[in-house]
Amino acid sequence: MQCNGSCKTFKATNNSAEYGRYEQGQKRCPTCEIFIEWEGLWCPCCGRLLRTKPRARKLKNKLSLSRIR
Ligand SMILES: [Zn+2]
Ligand SMILES: [Zn+2]
Repeated sequence: MQCNGSCKTFKATNNSAEYGRYEQGQKRCPTCEIFIEWEGLWCPCCGRLLRTKPRARKLKNKLSLSRIR
């Protein structure tokens, strides 16, 4: 599903830093590219799984490992 604009209803208005947003319970939708205040795990707008934590280090490690020849 795609963004239909309804996420703006839940848009987080706090302007604090990104890490603070997650701590405040705000979540980011990678499809809508927006922080929303929503208790569920899934975006109420597009249905995508929301990010609840800052980027994990594991991903970076995987990437660097795959580059080793
Ligand atoms: Zn949306
Ligand atoms: Zn969304």
